[in-house]
Amino acid sequence: MSSATTLEESLKRLKLVTLAERLDGWLETAAKQEWGYGEFLEKIVAEELSSKTSKRTDMGVRMARFPFVKTLEGFDFESQPSLDPKRIRELAACRWVANGDNVVFLGPPGVGKTHLAVALGVEAIRGGYRTLFVGAQSLIASLTRFHQEGRLEEKLKQLAQYKLLIIDEIGYIPIDQLGANLFFQLISRRYEKGSMILTSNQSYANWGEIFGDPIIASAILDRVLHHATTVNIKGESYRLKEKRKSGLLSQHPDEPKRETL
Ligand code: ADP
Ligand code: MG
Repeated sequence: MSSATTLEESLKRLKLVTLAERLDGWLETAAKQEWGYGEFLEKIVAEELSSKTSKRTDMGVRMARFPFVKTLEGFDFESQPSLDPKRIRELAACRWVANGDNVVFLGPPGVGKTHLAVALGVEAIRGGYRTLFVGAQSLIASLTRFHQEGRLEEKLKQLAQYKLLIIDEIGYIPIDQLGANLFFQLISRRYEKGSMILTSNQSYANWGEIFGDPIIASAILDRVLHHATTVNIKGESYRLKEKRKSGLLSQHPDEPKRETL
């Protein structure tokens, strides 16, 4: 290597971008601090690695198409006594994703189901797992469209590329017979291969109604729940609670628990 410029170019060609940018600073510090070769190498490699990891996470988060990006650090466990923080932190370690298991969040609107689903999704991405977030309604609409175009297989294959598929808001809108059938095919395809997070405002007992057919609902639940953790969240909407705290709403705890969207 004849000059620093050549070294910088080589580093860029090796895609060691952070190192290429920060090389001068590192060389100066190393000389000042009289670092040994090993120490120097360790430090520059560690920095490059952490910058690459955080770039990969940012990219994964963008590709996951979350409706918002929220993390576990931003979740207030104190205001949600029905949840055991230890249990959620355990899930954040993502062993269940490695095993192809599922997580289901059940509870009324506004209690943090989507927040926690996104937060676990971000953890999965940090762990290197490809993740996609979809709303149940748009997922079923898209499965139906592909089916009608004779391209269902293509869509199922595309969805199979994600190690974690988050399906949000099952149960807000009833699903028609074709939709239920296609959803079942998706669930069967992922069974014991890819993980899912499902969220629903309806207890399992009501899934027969959501899918318009108790048999298909129990076939779906049978596969989903075979290796799954169900997290029941109780209580009232976080947003309502916050508003009440700030005096924007009356103090009556018994008023209808409705989201003001
Ligand atoms: P759900 O999906 O259960 O209807 P969300 O996850 O969308 O509810 O939560 C509604 C809003 O309240 C979101 O902005 C979410 O970040 C926030 N939220 C809910 N629970 C909590 C909590 N315990 N700590 C912090 N924010 C919360
Ligand atoms: Mg939600």
